[in-house]
Amino acid sequence: MRRSIAFRGRPPRVAGGRSVPFGMAARGLVCYSPGDMKREKQLTKRERKALKPGRPAPAAQDQHIHCVACGAHLDAAQFAPPASAQYVRCKHGSQWASCTACVPRSRALLEEHDRTGQPVQAAGAWH
Ligand SMILES: [Zn+2]
Ligand SMILES: [Zn+2]
Ligand SMILES: [Zn+2]
Repeated sequence: MRRSIAFRGRPPRVAGGRSVPFGMAARGLVCYSPGDMKREKQLTKRERKALKPGRPAPAAQDQHIHCVACGAHLDAAQFAPPASAQYVRCKHGSQWASCTACVPRSRALLEEHDRTGQPVQAAGAWH
């Protein structure tokens, strides 16, 4: 009995899906997009407020600079001529502050750091 299940004239149109799902999707886009945009605007306002905490970033001159070799505190003015302090670079391009008198020792520390890959053995900061 193979003929018990037979199509009656028309095959069922289920998987065609041309007009109906497409139209629904289009409506959905039209309905949802304005709400999403409003949400995004509210978020950006909050983000703007969060981005403006009113704290200016600390200038480089306000940061504590210490000699890498002896740990002495260095003023930003000391790097201006007549300089009693200067920056030394390791091979990675990082700048390290150093008293002018300590530059040979600072360079040796950086060379060791470059050779061994270990962190620079900077002297403890003091005032
Ligand atoms: Zn300091
Ligand atoms: Zn020093
Ligand atoms: Zn380095």
